[in-house]
Amino acid sequence: MLTIVAPLYNESAILDQFCQRLLPVLDQLQEETRVLFVDDGSQDQSWQLVMRWAATDARVGGIRLSRNFGKEAALTAGLDHVHHGAAIVIDTDLQDPPELIPQLVEQWALGFDVVYATRRHRQGETWLKKLTARGFYRLIGKLSDLSMPRDTGDFRLLSRRALDALQQLRERQRYMKGLFSWIGFRQTAVYFDRDPRIGGTTKWNYWRLIKLAIDGITSFSTTPLQLATWVGLASAALAFIYGVWVLGRALLYGDIVRGYPSLMVVILFLGGIQLLALGVIGEYLGRNYSESKQRPLYFVDASIGVYNPPRQDPPQEEPALDTQP
Ligand code: UDP
Ligand code: MG
Repeated sequence: MLTIVAPLYNESAILDQFCQRLLPVLDQLQEETRVLFVDDGSQDQSWQLVMRWAATDARVGGIRLSRNFGKEAALTAGLDHVHHGAAIVIDTDLQDPPELIPQLVEQWALGFDVVYATRRHRQGETWLKKLTARGFYRLIGKLSDLSMPRDTGDFRLLSRRALDALQQLRERQRYMKGLFSWIGFRQTAVYFDRDPRIGGTTKWNYWRLIKLAIDGITSFSTTPLQLATWVGLASAALAFIYGVWVLGRALLYGDIVRGYPSLMVVILFLGGIQLLALGVIGEYLGRNYSESKQRPLYFVDASIGVYNPPRQDPPQEEPALDTQP
């Protein structure tokens, strides 16, 4: 059994086209298939469209989250609702071609647990986005021991084993692409050309991308924390050398009261480094804080055509009531 998990947020402009392209592809497959839409709190007609498709095709179902939780949480919600067989994650804006699904399934049949779709070209994206994306993949590859495939989105197939593993990772700052790689197992790539969006608008702006990048780096690497140590050590060493020089000059030539510029430079430089180090620590501390609150990752508002209740986190043990007076 194969479930297509498709997160959507305000995609009413292209949802019909998505279904019209996806369903014929599923008809070709031998496996029993389901489509699970995750409406990430859309404000437009998206949920009505999902309900209409669910009414016309028994394979289609959906869940609606109580508000917009972001794509990573929407994906998690969808994958949590897949209890049998494998899952394929796909964007609903048709940037991930549904026609590639049979190829993903083929590799799955060969025994791979994670089959990801890697794009050959990024069409319809600005050079700035391409450049920053490349820089980001390189940076995270260097900073963490996680080897993430480049130019790979969330479009991929996950086997039962991989899904079970993924469902155990309940961290709040979710960087799905990192988690998909982190679980390991047998992974392979299928190559394709990514089309530009055919309608609607991208939900990512640079601000959201930067936040995602920071989430990605801080979830998988503590190098920035060590960075503060190294920069601190280096500037302390430089300050020591400079101090020796200043002292030596004062001993040799006497103390001429000048030195205001050098003082300012040192103070400003050290102040800057300290603020930077504090900021880095703050990033990790903040993440720790939101993790310690142990909030659920999402809430489901409504569902249609989903037969299984979501997998629950193990129930917390109730403290025994003290009945002694
Ligand atoms: N999406 C979502 N919640 C959000 C933002 C986006 O579920 O808060 C969905 C969106 O509907 C689409 C997919 O995630 O199916 C990818 O979003 P988008 O196309 O905006 O991202 P891009 O392709 O530009 O990376
Ligand atoms: Mg897109």
